Amino acid sequence: MSEKNTENKTAVSKTRNFIHEIVENDLAEGKNGGRVHTRFPPEPNGYLHIGHAKAICLDFGTAEKFGGKCNLRFDDTNPSKEDQEYVDSIMEDIKWLGFDWEDRLYYASDFFDRLYEFAVKLIKEGKAYIDEQPADLISQQRGTPTRPGTESPYRNRPVEENLDMFERMKAGEFPNGHCVLRAKIDMASPNMHMRDPLMYRIMHAEHHRTGNKWCIYPMYDYAHGQCDYFEGITHSLCTLEFEIHRPLYNWFVDQLADSDYRPRQIEFSRLNLSYTMMSKRKLLQLVEEKLVSGWDDPRMPTLSGLRRRGFTPASIRALVEKVGITKTEGMVDVALLEHAVREDLNKTAQRVMGVLNPLKVVITNYPETQVEMLEAVNNPEDESAGTREVPFTREIYIERDDFMEDPPRKFFRLSPGKEVRLRYAYFVTCTDVVTDENGEISELHCTYDPESRGGNSPDGRKVKATLHWVSATENVEAKVRLYDRLFSVEDPSGDKEVDFRELLNPDSLNVLDKCYVEPFVKNAKPLDNFQFERMGYFNLDKESGDSKLVFNRTVTLRDNWSKHKGK
Ligand code: ATP
Ligand code: MG
Repeated sequence: MSEKNTENKTAVSKTRNFIHEIVENDLAEGKNGGRVHTRFPPEPNGYLHIGHAKAICLDFGTAEKFGGKCNLRFDDTNPSKEDQEYVDSIMEDIKWLGFDWEDRLYYASDFFDRLYEFAVKLIKEGKAYIDEQPADLISQQRGTPTRPGTESPYRNRPVEENLDMFERMKAGEFPNGHCVLRAKIDMASPNMHMRDPLMYRIMHAEHHRTGNKWCIYPMYDYAHGQCDYFEGITHSLCTLEFEIHRPLYNWFVDQLADSDYRPRQIEFSRLNLSYTMMSKRKLLQLVEEKLVSGWDDPRMPTLSGLRRRGFTPASIRALVEKVGITKTEGMVDVALLEHAVREDLNKTAQRVMGVLNPLKVVITNYPETQVEMLEAVNNPEDESAGTREVPFTREIYIERDDFMEDPPRKFFRLSPGKEVRLRYAYFVTCTDVVTDENGEISELHCTYDPESRGGNSPDGRKVKATLHWVSATENVEAKVRLYDRLFSVEDPSGDKEVDFRELLNPDSLNVLDKCYVEPFVKNAKPLDNFQFERMGYFNLDKESGDSKLVFNRTVTLRDNWSKHKGK
């Protein structure tokens, strides 16, 4: 079957993709003794983002589907950018997404000795040499895709000299940049990566695992393929930009292998989301320049940011599933992710009432000190979630937007003389509007119909609106953070001329300091998800204190954004 056909099929099939077909064929041909072994190979130089989630789901999911194994391997070949904090966060995020590498945790640095020995072997075989030219000259000599490169004057240096120099590089005799070890392949190759690529550079830097043992470090391209080989990886799944590196990985492994076994690299397209940027370098810049509050700022596309925002692992896995695995580059609408989380939370989130912009209502015919407990449904999508009691009192808050003094014709919520239903409570009618010295509405006076307890019409008369409310005396105070997209343009990485920082959405965070939520949320724990009825999905933030809760809005109940944009 051609690749195109295979890919079309993935669009309709939920669980099969072209990579699964390749794996199936390999199994049918008896390759690798029936083993399927994949790996997820992050570089610990930043936090994982939702793009990585696609790779994680594919790597672990493929292994799972074929009864195989998936390793976690940290590609920690560049000590200047790597950090234990990143290692820890990556492990936490993978587990949170629902995957498990069991006892198969590896680091490229576990293989530094073997990689070094292999480099010595290549030198001895005349397949690697020490180049003492400055870096910019080496890169100039690379040529262009259409013009072959120029051979280095050091290319034919005797083996003994190369061995001695490499030994001295390792012993720390030279400063950074003094020389490099290069593979001797082909300076005229049409593939630029085959033009005597760098294998080792000198870097006097402490490594997060090997400490000061090494002052030479393998290049990613020299380490990656061999690590796959050392770990017995059968299918090495990676994003399309590595396709062009594949011949080099194969070349190195061919020099190393003593059997037929070879890891098979298969490339797939990256996940790109609209209004989102996934470059780790730029995400780091946002953090370092304090344009966001940290890697886990709820506006970040990092898994820790999405988690803190209230996104669930199931919603992220559902997005990846929906997008599918192909070789076609494209942009996925971020609304699809928002849709996925709404679908998940609709099924699972506890409902509560919370008022974000409070307007006080005094129910003048309600007994002054009475607190009445009214029954409310916890989740209409899940009967087993049961019910809870919500306190009703003479003074309550409603949403400021739910009242208009001079309403247009189609405004069905509260206005003078109008009757509405208070959810789970009573029918109320607005009798008075009280204004302060600035003419601002400070409170409303209403009367209630005692016969409408539970929000049921006593005589069949209808009201056009049902409002949420919170008791003004029996409640929990909360700070609520309303988030919007971090970037105001669809493709913030699209125009390389524009500084991405200028594309930040100035309204991506809106903090409401005085909100009220029903007492039920008192015992909530960070990351607990709630639907505030009519207002969206919210989750409790880790910064919550006993005296004041902090909620993050995950998403609104409907996609308001596309309406704003006139889509
Ligand atoms: P960089 O190389 O710039 O540091 P990276 O995003 O490639 O960033 P890695 O830690 O090397 O980071 O990525 C680990 C794995 O995740 C790689 O196999 C990579 O192909 C995959 N990956 C990274 N970004 C995406 C994405 N947007 N969609 C799908 N897979 C991705
Ligand atoms: Mg990478």
